[in-house]
Amino acid sequence: MAQQEDVFKKIVAHAKEYGFVFPSSEIYDGLSAVYDYGQNGVELKNNIKRYWWEAMTLLHENIVGIDSAIFMHPTIWKASGHVDAFNDPLIDNRDSKKRYRADVLIEDHIAKIDEKIDKEVAKARKRFGDSFDEAMFRQTNARVVELLAHREAVHTRFSEAMNANDLDGLRQIIIDEEIVDPISGTKNWTEVRQFNLMFKTEMGSTADGSMTVYLRPETAQGIFVNYLNVQKTGRMRIPFGIAQIGKAFRNEIVARQFIFRMREFEQMEMQFFVRPGSEMEWFKYWKEWRLRWHKALGLGDEKYRYHDHEKLAHYANAATDIEFQMPFGFKEVEGIHSRTNFDLSQHEKFSGKKIQYFDPELNQSYTPYVIETSIGVDRMFLSVLCSSYEEQALEGGDSRVVLHLPAALAPVKCAVMPLVRKDGLPEKAREIVDELKFDFTTHYEEKDSIGKRYRRQDAIGTPFCITVDHQTLEDNTVTLRHRDSMEQQRVNIADLHSLIHSQVSLNALLRKI
Ligand code: ATP
Repeated sequence: MAQQEDVFKKIVAHAKEYGFVFPSSEIYDGLSAVYDYGQNGVELKNNIKRYWWEAMTLLHENIVGIDSAIFMHPTIWKASGHVDAFNDPLIDNRDSKKRYRADVLIEDHIAKIDEKIDKEVAKARKRFGDSFDEAMFRQTNARVVELLAHREAVHTRFSEAMNANDLDGLRQIIIDEEIVDPISGTKNWTEVRQFNLMFKTEMGSTADGSMTVYLRPETAQGIFVNYLNVQKTGRMRIPFGIAQIGKAFRNEIVARQFIFRMREFEQMEMQFFVRPGSEMEWFKYWKEWRLRWHKALGLGDEKYRYHDHEKLAHYANAATDIEFQMPFGFKEVEGIHSRTNFDLSQHEKFSGKKIQYFDPELNQSYTPYVIETSIGVDRMFLSVLCSSYEEQALEGGDSRVVLHLPAALAPVKCAVMPLVRKDGLPEKAREIVDELKFDFTTHYEEKDSIGKRYRRQDAIGTPFCITVDHQTLEDNTVTLRHRDSMEQQRVNIADLHSLIHSQVSLNALLRKI
């Protein structure tokens, strides 16, 4: 684990050094849990967004996009339940003066018990070898049985306290389980309080004429309140979906782990409107389809898992997360929720407008049910970055840091390099750039040795380097170097476009889903 944490620190440092992610307001010592994307980061991020947007809107003829405003009528957040219930339970440690989410402390504690169980199982597997029967071991080994019973008991108390919003109950679990502050190591805890995560601001110029508005904590509500507009103007027939990418804001209590939990972040959400009664079928469809979207990137199928929710949000009748193996464990990257007709019904109630769909096939009106897929752009970015990062030892004692980014997402697709800065090679290289730049993000690089230039491109994940040498002037061929294998092939300049295109196009990636 310590080793993994080290790797994570290196990834964060790498992200800064190579222009992917900077702490916000850095010259003023930063702003907690807010980050800026640099010259390479913005390209990677835009490519992730394009991959999602096109997968949704191009591959599904019944999904359209919108771009709704961040400010919305404040009653929307009353209707959605965010004003009253978008809270996290907060607890402070009096010694370290650090603030925690009480639910996260307990979840981490449960995860530690799970780790202990896994360790016992691993030890036994080693001891018994091929004849090991894990199910039997879990049922009969006294230590494991005891740990499992303990885990179940804590988990049941936890679910009950969360479902009942029982803050004292949560605190009691922390006390009874003797959970200590990871920093001070003490159990000197305050009471648990509810903390609303929405940012508030004022809209309007005069003191009495102004009203309190919120920075949206999710993009979904912008979709719900536009349901009628899109359905009518787009003459959409159920089932259909509305997709949106945009900023969301949450005043997170604990914001650590880099861009995993930010106070300003970006979401890619799609709400899919279906006939009541068909929602479980569509839930299953989207659960599977979204995982296929992730896996098509080739980051490693074993890095994903579903986590089905036991505690459902007030609006949901089924929910699952797609978790990704980050250096700090499996973590939620995307949520897929069956939201029933909760949101549309609430907006109907609070706005007084009829929000229904007339189904011509059933000859009947109803409030559509909704399946939501909701993914954080920044968490997706982090999963791509972490799984692509490699420190590679090379032959001859050399080493390199390489980002094995999926080629379609790489910020720069190819770099063109004259071997030397004379003899007409720079001019020839420029000619190639001027041809390729219309289709691919192309860098021109002439500074430093060719080896150093390759390393720089490896470090930002550029799939191809093209080197122009003296032979190029004679026969119009160049060397094409592949990032991952470092293999070099001699190719004709005329073939460059199609060779690169076949590897880096988003189209090829979309076809893999
Ligand atoms: P968590 O339990 O980690 O707080 P959540 O369940 O509250 O997340 P959702 O409300 O389901 O998250 O939001 C959908 C997606 O938005 C998440 O899967 C995640 O990718 C992203 N997201 C949510 N909160 C943040 C945040 N503070 N920073 C970055 N991304 C976030």
